[in-house]
Amino acid sequence: SLTAGVVAVQGDVEEHADAIERAARARGHEVTVHEIRESGIVPDCDLLAMPGGESTTISRLVHSEGIAAEIRDHVAAGKPLLATCAGLIVASSDPNDDRVDELGLLDVAVERNAFGRQKDSFEAPLEVDGLADDEPYPAVFIRAPAIADIESGDAEVLATWDGRPVAVRQGSVVGTAFHPELTPDSRLHGLAFFKNEAASVPSLEAEEPATDP
Ligand code: GLN
Repeated sequence: SLTAGVVAVQGDVEEHADAIERAARARGHEVTVHEIRESGIVPDCDLLAMPGGESTTISRLVHSEGIAAEIRDHVAAGKPLLATCAGLIVASSDPNDDRVDELGLLDVAVERNAFGRQKDSFEAPLEVDGLADDEPYPAVFIRAPAIADIESGDAEVLATWDGRPVAVRQGSVVGTAFHPELTPDSRLHGLAFFKNEAASVPSLEAEEPATDP
């Protein structure tokens, strides 16, 4: 049985926890999901998610609670991390904002709120490299960042939208500007956490409707 953690200092924590449970169950895995607000839990986790929310707040709290170093150790041990939206900003090597104390787990520079006011929130059919099949992924963007620059050859762009990279993989870390926890399509979790195993119980995937935080 797997132990998962969702960094829960701020942001859309429950949606991530639910999505991990759905994605695991659909592939026949038992999983226990911990919400992480303090140090000492990450070392027990096989896989981690860092959610969307507000990147300055999340970065401040993961450092003050002693979770930041544990997340770095988790990734250094080769264990998977899925960092979404604000989580991607915090995981980057350059948030382009002094108020974000980055973790440097993805060698990318990001631009916060890159898609502009008129497009605060939208859904796009994304072509994502590395998914289990070629169907477009329904990607929900909410005041999303974009990847402004790829800073090393270790970071691989998985998807672009409007000419900008919006998903990236580096080693065991997957970062998305969008919110895979808000759609019933669990292929992104399959890619990040479950070695692209197909969901063998598709009905479980559609169990809960997408929600807007
Ligand atoms: N705009 C937020 C930030 O820059 C991210 C939005 C999100 O995570 N949905 O921190």
